[in-house]
Amino acid sequence: MDYADPLKNYREQFIIPQHHNKDLIYFTGNSLGLQPKKTRTYLLQELNDWGKYGVEGHFLAKNPWLSYHETLTDKMAKIVGALPQETVMMNQLTVNLHLLMVSFYRPNPKRFKILCESKAFPSDQYALQSQIKFHGYTIEEALIEVEPRKGEFNIREEDIEAAIEKNKDSLALIMIGGVNYFSGQVFDMKRITEAGHKAGAIVGFDLAHAAGNIELNLHDWNVDFASWCTYKYLNSGPGSVGGVFVHEKNLKNLDLPLFAGWWGHDKTTRFLMDKTFIPMNTAERWQLSNAPVLSMAACRASLDIFEEVGMPALIEKSKQLTAYLEFIIQEINLQKNNCLQIITPKENRGSQISIIAIGYNKDLFNKLTANGVVPDWREPNVIRCSTVALYNSFEDIYHFGQILSSLL
Ligand SMILES: *Cc1c(COP(=O)(O)O)cnc(C)c1O
Repeated sequence: MDYADPLKNYREQFIIPQHHNKDLIYFTGNSLGLQPKKTRTYLLQELNDWGKYGVEGHFLAKNPWLSYHETLTDKMAKIVGALPQETVMMNQLTVNLHLLMVSFYRPNPKRFKILCESKAFPSDQYALQSQIKFHGYTIEEALIEVEPRKGEFNIREEDIEAAIEKNKDSLALIMIGGVNYFSGQVFDMKRITEAGHKAGAIVGFDLAHAAGNIELNLHDWNVDFASWCTYKYLNSGPGSVGGVFVHEKNLKNLDLPLFAGWWGHDKTTRFLMDKTFIPMNTAERWQLSNAPVLSMAACRASLDIFEEVGMPALIEKSKQLTAYLEFIIQEINLQKNNCLQIITPKENRGSQISIIAIGYNKDLFNKLTANGVVPDWREPNVIRCSTVALYNSFEDIYHFGQILSSLL
């Protein structure tokens, strides 16, 4: 499979961390993607231009910093299925969620509820809870969390629809993680968006585990807004710049309330430094500050790889990798009394498989790490394995199986 893999040469474009002089079996690209070798070159370009030009680098740098963020827009838009004007790279994920909720969570006494998935990523929970409290409501009255049914690990879309229907007169916002970070479940974002709109709610998604992982068509799905980070599947380095989507239909409303900064002001007159805010008619309107060029340089190095490969080829390989990982786990189960339970839904998954090893505790995970495997551990008992098309190989998965089997 590795030999026949059309993307096999991309592994060489990444720095694979070492364990006793051998490549680590790195299954944590869903947490921090590996470093593309060319990231260093892209960063050095900006460091050199800063050294050479000082402030003039805003205009004279090879990639002028004044408009640096624009160099990321088209490539990013393609990855999430957005129009370029609907996309901007700025800040970081949780910051962006708050900024977007300033515009898209506008509760009133009739419509004030937010619907989310249970066990949302903690940062999202804190963001939602604090927005609710900020507007003077209580979490108990305003937050609806849809849970998996008893004995199940995944949330059924029909249960989300039912919760939307039940709260249709009081629902202001639906905010869900497009791919659940814990179970790896991919939600039907099109279906949820339709149901939300039918109820008169705004629909936004956190795409931290979706961007660069699964097929996204944010524009066509009519999603209102979304945000994501770029350090997971998008390999842009720790804490790197985040991404934002605002649907075209929402851009038309220039009176939409927002927290403004000078980078959201019409760029043709930005430097007249006038006190009247003239909003840009693109998602760039939500920008507050000038662009973090060093972090964007790292992001750019990675997006250039995505541009070259394209999401369809990447998804094709990703499906084969996860299918192979599933096969290996089932092979182990045949010999080891079905002790490995996969909680990720087969039909709705991306590059991640979450496993519970029944009868084992964190010791098992620690032993895996000691043997050169890096999955990740989520309390109380889940091992998440993410196999990334750009740099993981089928051989990685085979060796993982050998090691895991020997530890059970
Ligand atoms: C990784 C992740 C975050 C992290 O937020 P930052 O603001 O980038 O630190 C938030 N939400 C979800 C769903 C995530 O997976």
